[in-house]
Amino acid sequence: MASNGFPVIFDGHNDTILSLTGTGFNPLPNGRSFFERSTNGHVDLPRARDGGLGGGFFAVFIRPPEAEKENAEAKNADDVEQRVKAQFNPAGGWPEPMAMDFAQSKALELLGRLFQIERESAGACKIVRSAAELQECLDNGIFAILLHFEGTDQLDPDGFALDVFHQAGVQSIGLTHFRKNRYAEGVPMTFPSSPDTGPGLTEEGKELVRQCNARNILVDVSHITEAGFWDVANITDAPIVATHSNAWEVANAPRNLTDKQLAAIKESNGVAGLNFHVGFLRPDGEMASDTPLSIMADHVDHMVDKMGIDCVALGSDFDGANMPDELKDATGLPNLMSALQDRGYDAQALTKIAHGNWVRVLRETWGS
Ligand SMILES: [Zn+2]
Repeated sequence: MASNGFPVIFDGHNDTILSLTGTGFNPLPNGRSFFERSTNGHVDLPRARDGGLGGGFFAVFIRPPEAEKENAEAKNADDVEQRVKAQFNPAGGWPEPMAMDFAQSKALELLGRLFQIERESAGACKIVRSAAELQECLDNGIFAILLHFEGTDQLDPDGFALDVFHQAGVQSIGLTHFRKNRYAEGVPMTFPSSPDTGPGLTEEGKELVRQCNARNILVDVSHITEAGFWDVANITDAPIVATHSNAWEVANAPRNLTDKQLAAIKESNGVAGLNFHVGFLRPDGEMASDTPLSIMADHVDHMVDKMGIDCVALGSDFDGANMPDELKDATGLPNLMSALQDRGYDAQALTKIAHGNWVRVLRETWGS
């Protein structure tokens, strides 16, 4: 239980390490410290404590070098946002995948920064490698960091890099972002659209799912095309997990999950995490922050209706997306819990949504 009276929250997706280094969706020229309260971005340790956020999946996301260069030339945050939007829905289709050596050097840097946070926290933060460790952190007020790849350009098809990164603590892998790589293709950021926007997994992508299964690494289906989703569903022997995706029936964004996809997640005893990005929440697809929290409750209601209370969790996309005004950063999380409580979710249901379902699916996927 957090000090605000709600169950402690463990969250399925943030881009905080990118925001801290000033390279994320809401970039700052000089970055910021995880340990100091900021008014920029969405997550730092003081704001996490205020909002009852006990940890989450920290995405290691690598922007291709040409996009990084282009964003560096942007005049201000709005300009960056426009450039990023164009990169997530390019007129000429997805660019070619980035070079593996570039992606590997960036992945090492971002992972190193997360280890640096753990070390400098002097015990306040911990990189978790098992569900038992995660539960222990949540019980004891230690901020839990789960190392997650959002995109797989840094992986070779033989699985050598996968083994090294896994040994280092990377236990969760999203196959792609808004682009394509040698393994999978993502949906573009359009609206409205079905998620059936392109091809499924490549043969190497199918092999990567098997490699992850063999190592008990979680495979995240958020971002991939619908064909890719069904490829994963057909191959995997683990619960199907979408770390940060909403209900397509409520908002017709291709990043959201159709009822058929939700049924497959339920069937596998998987989890979908509610994404807080207004463009994926709103039925009109607008990027407008005056989005009432009742719309978030609508998504949760729909997902619970289709999957049951054991398969719905949170996947904020903090530091990588546009939040509703009433949930401006991690300090606004109690407002979301209140909105869900008002919708009739009792203490037991809120505990499952807040963290219980993540702990359960991680235990089933990782085996401990
Ligand atoms: Zn994402």
